[in-house]
Amino acid sequence: DRHVVIVGASLAGTRTAQGLRTLGHTGRVTLIGAESGLPYDRPPLSKALLTSDWTPSAIDEVRLVAATELEDLAIEYRSGTAAIGLDTAAKLVRLADGSEVGYDVLVIATGAAARPSPWDPGSGVHQLRTLDDARMIAGRLALKEPVVVVGGGFIGTEIAAAAVHYGCPVVVVDPVPEPMARLVGPEIAGSLVGLHLRNGVQTRFGAGVVGIEGRAGDLRVELSTGEHLEASTAVVGIGSVPATAWLAGSGLTLDNGVVTDEFLRAVGAADVYAIGDVARWPHAGRAQAVRAEHWTNAGDQARYVATAIARGTAAAYASSDYVWSDQYDWKVNAVGWRDPRGTSVVVGDLEESGRTAVVHLDAEGAACGVVTVNWVRALNQARRRLLAGEPGTVIVGALRQLL
Ligand code: FAD
Repeated sequence: DRHVVIVGASLAGTRTAQGLRTLGHTGRVTLIGAESGLPYDRPPLSKALLTSDWTPSAIDEVRLVAATELEDLAIEYRSGTAAIGLDTAAKLVRLADGSEVGYDVLVIATGAAARPSPWDPGSGVHQLRTLDDARMIAGRLALKEPVVVVGGGFIGTEIAAAAVHYGCPVVVVDPVPEPMARLVGPEIAGSLVGLHLRNGVQTRFGAGVVGIEGRAGDLRVELSTGEHLEASTAVVGIGSVPATAWLAGSGLTLDNGVVTDEFLRAVGAADVYAIGDVARWPHAGRAQAVRAEHWTNAGDQARYVATAIARGTAAAYASSDYVWSDQYDWKVNAVGWRDPRGTSVVVGDLEESGRTAVVHLDAEGAACGVVTVNWVRALNQARRRLLAGEPGTVIVGALRQLL
C-alpha cells in the first residue's frame, strides 16, 4: 500500500487524488497545494466567474472538490504549503513550513504561473492565474474605467470581453499582427477580431509595449509605435511558465517543464510522474516533446497516471489534444493541431451562417486537426474521424453533409 504524494492541488493534482481512490488505491494519498482554500478550476476565472457577482455560491461553483469528498476519500489535503525541495534519493518532499513528507510514488502537478510582466510601475498592472488575481481584476473592472490588455491570446481576449461586459473602454495590445491566428489559424482569427471590434474592443496589433508608467487609476502605456494609451488598469497576459523552481537540484530533467517519458514518468528519478501544465512529454504525433497548457490534457493525464499507479498500464499516454475558448457568445473548439507547413479547408461561412469548421492538413496532406466555431456537432464528428485516421477529404466531405 504505497503512499502517493501529489504536489500541486489544482486540476491535475486533484483529479489524480480522486482517480486513485475511484480506481481502488488503498494506500495513503497526500495532496499538497501552495494555495489556501479548496482546489478550484481556472477556465472560469477569465469567463463566467470574472463577470459574476462574486457571491460565495459563485465561488463554490468553481471548486473542483468539496471538503466532505476529500474526507470521504481519505485524501490528506495540505493546503497553503508550497513544496520547496525534492530529494529523490531519500524520496522526500520538503515543504515551506519546514516539514518533510516521504513518498513511495510522487506526482508532480505544480502547473504553471503567469509569465511575469516585465513592466511593474508599482500598482495597477495585473495578471490572471489564480482566484485572488481574478477577484482583484474584477474589482478593477467594476470601476468601469479604461483598461489596457497586453496579450491577444485566449486569456487576454477573454479578459477584454469581460471588461466590455463591465462597461470599461478596453484596448488589446499585441506585437503580433494577427495574434489569434497562432491559436485558431488565419481563417478564423480575422472573424474573431471582428467579433471583438463589433463589441467595442479596440486593438493595437503589431504594436509592442515599451513600458508602463504611473499607478493604478492613472497608467500610461507606451507602445513601440510611439503611441501612448491612458488606462486605469492594465492586465498582462503574455503566456505562462512551468512551476519548476522548487525542483532545482533534484536531479530531474527540467527543460521548459519536467521532462517525462511517454508514460509520463519524470526523467531522472524512479517513481516520479509529472502531469498537467508542468509536464513536457514526447507526444506521439509531433516531432518535439510538448508541454500542453490545456484543461483537457491536465485531466486526461491525471486519469492516466492514477490508472498507472493503481492498476499499472502498458500503453503510452495518448493526448486528446482538445482546447476551447468562449468569446462573448461564440464557442471556439479545437482538436488536434495545426501544421504551419500544411494547408487548411474551410467548411461553412462563419459570417453568413454563424458557424464554421476548418480542417487542418499536415505537410503530407494527412488530416491533423480541426477548429470549429459554434458548431459542436462538426467538432465531435471530426474528432471521431481524426482518431480513426480518416483522410482529410473524407472528413471535409462528412462535415459538408452537416451543413
Ligand atoms: P495549475 O492549474 O497551474 O495548478 C497548479 C497548482 O500547483 C496551483 O494551484 C499552484 O498553486 C500549485 N503549485 C505550484 N507550485 C507549487 C509548489 N511548489 N508546491 C505546492 N503547490 C504548488 N484551458 C483550456 O483548455 N481552456 C480554457 O478555456 C482555459 N481557460 C483558462 C483561463 C485562465 C484564466 C487560466 C489561468 C487558464 C486557463 N486554461 C484553459 C488552462 C487550464 O486552466 C490549465 O491547463 C489547467 O489549470 C492546468 O492544470 P494543472 O493542475 O496542471 O496546473
